[in-house]
Amino acid sequence: MSMPSIRTRPLTIYYDVPIARTEKFWNGIKEGKIYATKCKKCGTLYFPPVADCANCFSSDMEWVELSGEGEVETFTHIIVRPASFADEPPYTVAIARLKEGVRVLAWLTGAKKTEIKVGMPVKLEAKVTPEGRLTYEFKPLK
Ligand SMILES: [Zn+2]
Repeated sequence: MSMPSIRTRPLTIYYDVPIARTEKFWNGIKEGKIYATKCKKCGTLYFPPVADCANCFSSDMEWVELSGEGEVETFTHIIVRPASFADEPPYTVAIARLKEGVRVLAWLTGAKKTEIKVGMPVKLEAKVTPEGRLTYEFKPLK
């Protein structure tokens, strides 16, 4: 309650800036939409969204909704899980290249292990977990 303000100030800056600059992304997930950021100056597309362009250093970015559609480029089945996922069944992590040209790393769910192949069409979908965690994952594109 009586925390000295000189100690809270750095924390406020640390939390406020990233949330404000990516708020649209997290709100998009809640609405079932996947947003990337695009540099207005050089056109480079970023996913996950970033506030500053690593290519031309511009901060003039715009939000772009992604189709989510893409093709699996590589994948791996995770059998030995990290401690934070120890309660989850074995899962598959894939990297897919979306139509818009960005590569995305996410879990791939809703497919049998034997069905998952390089070149498989997938769709990146927004997801709110039962615990309220906002995330996204690939599903087979039917
Ligand atoms: Zn740029």
